[in-house]
Amino acid sequence: MSVIGIPKETAPGETRVAMVPGHLAMLVRDKHTVLVEKGAGEGASFSDEAYTKAGATIVDGSAGIYAKAEVIFKVQPPREMVGGKLEADLIREKGMYIGFFPPLTEKKVVDSFLRRKITSFSMEYVPRITRAQSMDALSSMATVAGYKAVLIATEHLGKMFPLLMTAAGTVPPANVMVLGAGVAGLQAIATAKRLGARVEAYDVRAAVKEQVKSLGAGFIEVPFEEAAEAAGGYAKEQSAEFIRKQREVLGEHLSKTHVLITTAQVFGKKAPVVFTGEMIAQMPRGAVIVDLAAEQGGNCELTEAGKVVEKDGVTVVGAVNLPATIPTDASMLYAKNLLNLFKHLYPKADATPDYEDEVTKGACITRDGRVVHEAVRNSLQ
Ligand code: NAD
Repeated sequence: MSVIGIPKETAPGETRVAMVPGHLAMLVRDKHTVLVEKGAGEGASFSDEAYTKAGATIVDGSAGIYAKAEVIFKVQPPREMVGGKLEADLIREKGMYIGFFPPLTEKKVVDSFLRRKITSFSMEYVPRITRAQSMDALSSMATVAGYKAVLIATEHLGKMFPLLMTAAGTVPPANVMVLGAGVAGLQAIATAKRLGARVEAYDVRAAVKEQVKSLGAGFIEVPFEEAAEAAGGYAKEQSAEFIRKQREVLGEHLSKTHVLITTAQVFGKKAPVVFTGEMIAQMPRGAVIVDLAAEQGGNCELTEAGKVVEKDGVTVVGAVNLPATIPTDASMLYAKNLLNLFKHLYPKADATPDYEDEVTKGACITRDGRVVHEAVRNSLQ
């Protein structure tokens, strides 16, 4: 039995919460004690009363949570707070952290976890294998982002998505191109199709062609032989020559593209810049680009993370943290992923985690004052 703490997220603009009342009941049934910071679920429309009803204890302020909780559930990685204090340092010594946490870019957090022997699990590192699908928060959040990207495009576009035949004339459908047909891209394709747009997509992994087609979208072929797939189903970084060919082929489609949604990423690397300013200038006036890779540098040369910029009549949205703009459902999905990981670690309340298990091993970053994740350890050296 553990004391689990759910502090309110402190990152600017973060509205999600790591556990929702509906899923929390399962932890209480397993005899865990759950402490929730007052107002933690407010941004996602979950009231303190709902948490209390589900069996949690509401604590005023995060200090009381961090002082008592053995396990902390979070959405955003621990941050540096005003005055330089580290949120990571608040977690109890020898405690446990479960949440998003990219260890390669959060060195101060890693140091704090090592110094204070915290066992940390990163939601980004949950292996993307079939057995761990129910714990895959990257996929859940990408689904939300892919959906929202289309809605953002509709807001900026001066056209409607569907074909409309009206007494006042025929409105042709919008043409949408999606770059990258991973989890976010496939959801963007499905959402744009539901709204009636004409959709085409491209991905370096040939395996997704069938998935794109099954959603009723066209697949753009780039005739160039290069291995595209790395371990775990992720894409490999492509050569400069390949990107040149890709630009040439995709560029031919841009003069008719009203909406471009870009999602191309290479795990652990900067996102590939596929669309140059010159290419974007070929798009029709009023066209909209929503770049979901903005936080990793963006797939378009003009993208500025967190900003909406306009150039040559094209609006470029550097989308960041879209799941926080749909906080109720994003929190429900995230909380379920986290709960499933926790239940995997502790199938019974009094169990101890099996650190040799593939999923546990893949997601565990630090333990007993050591970086136990081999790939992370090698990269940090
Ligand atoms: P991602 O966010 O890392 O990348 C998005 C997409 O961009 C990928 O489909 C990738 O192939 C594509 N891409 C990369 N470089 C590109 C380029 N230059 N041009 C065009 N496209 C480019 O990926 P993701 O959506 O998180 O997941 C990718 C894949 O990982 C999945 O489709 C699947 O095969 C695998 N996966 C497996 C599981 C599972 O089994 N549990 C879960 C999720 C994902």
